[in-house]
Amino acid sequence: MPKRILLKLSGEALQSQGLRGVAPQSLRHIAGEIASAHETGVELAIVVGGGNIWRGAKDAEDLISRVMSDNMGMLATIFNALALQAALESAGKATRVQTAMPIITLAEPYIRRKAVRHLEKGRIVIFAGGTGNPYFTTDTAAALRASEIEADEILKATQVDGVYTDDPQKNPAARLIRTISYRDALDRGLKFMDTSALALCLENQIPIRVFNLHKKGNIRKAVRSGGVGTLIS
Ligand code: UDP
Repeated sequence: MPKRILLKLSGEALQSQGLRGVAPQSLRHIAGEIASAHETGVELAIVVGGGNIWRGAKDAEDLISRVMSDNMGMLATIFNALALQAALESAGKATRVQTAMPIITLAEPYIRRKAVRHLEKGRIVIFAGGTGNPYFTTDTAAALRASEIEADEILKATQVDGVYTDDPQKNPAARLIRTISYRDALDRGLKFMDTSALALCLENQIPIRVFNLHKKGNIRKAVRSGGVGTLIS
């Protein structure tokens, strides 16, 4: 069983029925799933996205500059992190939120050594604010933080069962891939993660498991036995 895991959740995981925002029932469900995975004894860090609130340039049209819009996206991830923290604490888990940009009345600033210490003490650490820089995504933040804390694996929870040969929603012949190398995934342009995030994982040799968030017990399974989704390594 891997010892230290970084779980990447997209903001979508906190919404319900396609309605943007944070839905308490989704939050409660995810927190229960994460708490159950944590009970296996793994050290767990989380990077949460913000797409359920603000998707950067995609939402800004031409009214808001790219940089400002990305700053708003990063703030959205902090909003989500605080919601997730509250739900995890309700589920009985000790947590810390660390932000890439300081908001010190609400959360700790990101300090790598402190994050590692929290993990060693069994606390769940939620990294918020992405990388702290515009022009990036929370996938890249996940790859970066996983590299920094020397995570054994990234678990990327998604809406589908894993990585497919093609978009399963458009092509019924698309097949689920069980294992693939970083290099093959990059060469084939498979769209499950940003290229920059994938390249960082390749460079630091961090395996990524892409799996379905909506199947009950999947996070725990992914942590315990790894027998779900697609492994990129
Ligand atoms: N963002 C950013 N820098 C980062 C991480 C995120 O500028 O390091 C912004 C960007 O605008 C992005 C938004 O925050 O569109 C929300 O993050 P993301 O799209 O990765 O969230 P997810 O799709 O995982 O919910």
